[in-house]
Amino acid sequence: MKRPTSLPPGALQLAEKRCAEAGEKLTPARINAYAELFAQARPVSAYELLALLETREGRKLAPLTVYRQLDFLTRVGLVHRLASAQAFVACAHPEHAHEGLYLVCSSCGRSDELESKPLAAVISKAARSRGFKSEKQIIEVRGLCQDCNEAGAE
Ligand SMILES: [Zn+2]
Ligand SMILES: [Zn+2]
Repeated sequence: MKRPTSLPPGALQLAEKRCAEAGEKLTPARINAYAELFAQARPVSAYELLALLETREGRKLAPLTVYRQLDFLTRVGLVHRLASAQAFVACAHPEHAHEGLYLVCSSCGRSDELESKPLAAVISKAARSRGFKSEKQIIEVRGLCQDCNEAGAE
């Protein structure tokens, strides 16, 4: 098996660990999809990921396969789905399960993942007060990143 060069060894080990915890297997195709997202370091749509993988592998891939891989990577927590951007992004803190807080730039599309336990706790508590059991929180804050902000101010 040829391992993708774009995935650092540490990241690969973490990915294997998360999959093992979830009782899932990290297949070479799944590694490829994850490595490509990891290398992009920004939210990428499923369609864009398909194109990137096809370019790298030099062959056509079935869109359904890529959707399934994204589904899998999201399920085991290696990738987060950003609903507002209809895109997927490699998790910045894959070492443990967590709630994600994303700052997404509306101009360049860059995303910055933060972890905020107090915020997650406030939301869970508010949900519980309505009898709602929250399972997953991905909070997306849209705006302008520092670079785009400064470019606009000049
Ligand atoms: Zn994350
Ligand atoms: Zn930006």
